[in-house]
Amino acid sequence: MQHQPGPMVAQAAAPAPAELATPALAWYDQIRALLIRTGLPPEPAVYDVLWRYVRGEDHELSQAIDTALAGDGLTLSVLTGLREALLGQMSEAQVNQLIAEAHGQAEALTRRIESGQTDLADYGRAIADGGERLAGPMDATMLAGLLEQLSSATSTMQAANSRLIEELEQAAAESRALADRLIQAERAAITDALTGVFNRRGLLLAIEKAQAEAAAAGAPLAVAVVDIDHFKRFNDRFGHAMGDDVLRFVARHLADRLEPDGGCVGRLGGEEFVGVMPGATVQAAAGRIDRIRADLAGQVLRSAVDGSSMGRISFSAGVAEHRAGRSPDHLIERADGALYTAKRLGRDRVVPDRG
Ligand code: GH3
Ligand code: MG
Ligand code: MG
Repeated sequence: MQHQPGPMVAQAAAPAPAELATPALAWYDQIRALLIRTGLPPEPAVYDVLWRYVRGEDHELSQAIDTALAGDGLTLSVLTGLREALLGQMSEAQVNQLIAEAHGQAEALTRRIESGQTDLADYGRAIADGGERLAGPMDATMLAGLLEQLSSATSTMQAANSRLIEELEQAAAESRALADRLIQAERAAITDALTGVFNRRGLLLAIEKAQAEAAAAGAPLAVAVVDIDHFKRFNDRFGHAMGDDVLRFVARHLADRLEPDGGCVGRLGGEEFVGVMPGATVQAAAGRIDRIRADLAGQVLRSAVDGSSMGRISFSAGVAEHRAGRSPDHLIERADGALYTAKRLGRDRVVPDRG
């Protein structure tokens, strides 16, 4: 991955000291400088957003943060808003609200059922009382009165019953709506808002699942890290919006070709994607990705507005095969190393990891 921190960070952060052995420590240093500069609390949610920012994982996020830093400042509420809007993640307040709603529904349901039980008990008493009175001396007038009383208790019970049924139906509908919102929120948390494929989080989860399945089946598993070539030039020439269209197009291009075979696609950030290919060895996966690459490079992109040509785009990719016991990050890193070689060799090619 060619990580590029947002431009403001490059200015804001002290240059990484030479002794920082890994890029992760340099990123940490930048995050620390940002925390000091903005006065934001060093909480996990804040750290998460700044981590994505310094790694340049999400272009829109980086732009929004640069704008905030250059303008009114990056406050906690701005950052929380970005997290919700761009990363599809629910704030603690939103999660708490959903939980409160679920509690509210459970309590309302309990009250409804309790009131139904009271109605039923009242009805039971009315019948028992009628039974006792029937056992004693009774004339026609008393009997008529008793029947009148029982019939009124029955009507009351019927009304209470239908009210309860209505209320239970309403409660069930509310529960379904709440469950739908939870499912949507869960989906949003693992989906890249721009392209609709997995985001980084969803991708890591998908790879973890694929690794477990591969281990259980004793089958191979390979991933490809795909990076669009010279995407910056495309953006500069045709504009950011058109660049976004290309990102959607490439995400679809990959997904349409990998999903039918049980694979999946995620956006790692910027113009980088990962294709997951269960059942594929590194050679087979490299062959597949190369066909997908040739397919893309063979197409001329045209503006949907006036049909004018925007030329061709290509990508470079590195492919690696899963090794038992290693993490999704490790697999991606190895594919990323091969991607680096593909770029160095001149781009528009696929290089398998030889490790
Ligand atoms: P290379 O072949 O070496 O990969 O060159 P490149 O230009 O593709 O790579 P570089 O890392 O220099 O630039 C990536 C560009 O991707 C820069 C950034 O503006 C753009 N980009 C990142 N995320 C987005 C996005 O969400 N939308 C758009 N339109 N552009 C993005
Ligand atoms: Mg890149
Ligand atoms: Mg690129």
